[in-house]
Amino acid sequence: MEMDTISAISTPMGEGAIGIVRISGDDAIQLADNLFKGKRPLAEAETHTINYGHIKDPDTGDIVEEVMVSVLKAPRTYTKENMVEINCHGGLTSVNRVLQLVLNEGARLAEPGEFTKRAFLNGRIDLSQAEGVIDLIRAKTDRAMNVAMNQVEGKLSQRIQKLRQALLETVAHVEVNIDYPEYDAEEMTLEILQEKGSFVKKEIDRLLQTAQQGKILREGLSTVIIGRPNVGKSSLLNSLVQENKAIVTDIPGTTRDVIEEYVNVRGVPLRLLDTAGIRETEDVVERLGVERSRKVINSAELVLLVLNNNEPLTEADEELFKLSEGHDVITIVNKTDLEEKINLNRVRKLAGNRPVVATSLLKDEGVDELEEAIRELFFEGDLETGDMSYVSNSRHIALLNQAKKTIDDALGAMEAGMPVDMVQIDITKAWELLGEVIGDSVSESLIDQLFSQFCLGK
Ligand code: GDP
Ligand code: ZN
Repeated sequence: MEMDTISAISTPMGEGAIGIVRISGDDAIQLADNLFKGKRPLAEAETHTINYGHIKDPDTGDIVEEVMVSVLKAPRTYTKENMVEINCHGGLTSVNRVLQLVLNEGARLAEPGEFTKRAFLNGRIDLSQAEGVIDLIRAKTDRAMNVAMNQVEGKLSQRIQKLRQALLETVAHVEVNIDYPEYDAEEMTLEILQEKGSFVKKEIDRLLQTAQQGKILREGLSTVIIGRPNVGKSSLLNSLVQENKAIVTDIPGTTRDVIEEYVNVRGVPLRLLDTAGIRETEDVVERLGVERSRKVINSAELVLLVLNNNEPLTEADEELFKLSEGHDVITIVNKTDLEEKINLNRVRKLAGNRPVVATSLLKDEGVDELEEAIRELFFEGDLETGDMSYVSNSRHIALLNQAKKTIDDALGAMEAGMPVDMVQIDITKAWELLGEVIGDSVSESLIDQLFSQFCLGK
């Protein structure tokens, strides 16, 4: 495949001070040599070496930047192409200047995700691994990072491959029996179909069970803080944001009418919704009315309902309980440093079997208990210690659901006494659907759309 030479600024994760200009393509090394001035030309450097030198402007001969240049020769590179990485010491302007010189030499500015796209097109990684890279870039907690990392390493791919193999064997078996009908092995074929089909279906179910947790790890647990004016919503928000590293995210391409903030509560990424509403208006319910409150609550997976220990319950409090019925709710009875005027028995009754936590946000008391309650709600059972190959990508989830349904159809058809080759069609379909997870049979437009989600330089 003929590939032009691309370049972009690629600043590694977690670092911002050093800027890297990345180049990939057949001409990468030669192109960099036109700008490089060092002990010897880069073309003469061994592969996977770092070379000290300077970048000069070929027009004026001026030295522009002191650099360390990595030379990475195909095929043992990220893209499987020749690659050069120019490490610049200076700030953003000097990195940009170096990039400009590289582009002047004939490289094309890479699109977002294009380096990873090449790794995929050149067969170094499969699609689910590439998607893992996207998740890695966006990971909001260590745990989410682990999940993404596993995906990059191909754990999910391996599990999917295993299932595809099982289906393939089944299909092959059916083929043989159709080709050699003298064996008259119809009975046995059905048995095998049934056995393998149920096995694959069960495995898909197990993968899907991890999906909810995976999705939350990936996208954050959408959370709202509700309560009457002055009960302590802003105080709660501030305390959560201060104690837990707040992660401000700005994912391009998503427009939102609510302002969000991410906090990492004991490994659970909370996506706090409508924080502007809390910060600015002091009262969601009264300003926005019941309908809007219902909407806000319905958009959330977790509701933090704040009450004032120092006041009797009001009708508005009861209304909020009613609005949040059917949601995961943690009730927070705040201002425990003041006299208890609230009817705690009534609060417990309204909360039902959902957690109630007492806090004094003024004195910073009870916040630990609240965080523990959040963690328990999310990591109930053994999922926390379970293996980390969560399915977390909605495209994967949709495909797995379709594959499962197709296998169900196959098993149903068999029971209804349909001919074996009819059943085989469904099994083949399921095999194809699983293939789409790892990118075996996906369309070009989907590939383009996926890789456009990356940031530049990946
Ligand atoms: P919001 O209107 O629900 O956002 O409530 P705020 O967080 O703005 O708090 C309203 C008032 O209650 C502020 O003066 C806070 O300092 C005070 N406050 C918040 N938490 C506590 C608490 O635990 N104890 C006491 N005594 N006052 C609190
Ligand atoms: Zn407030």
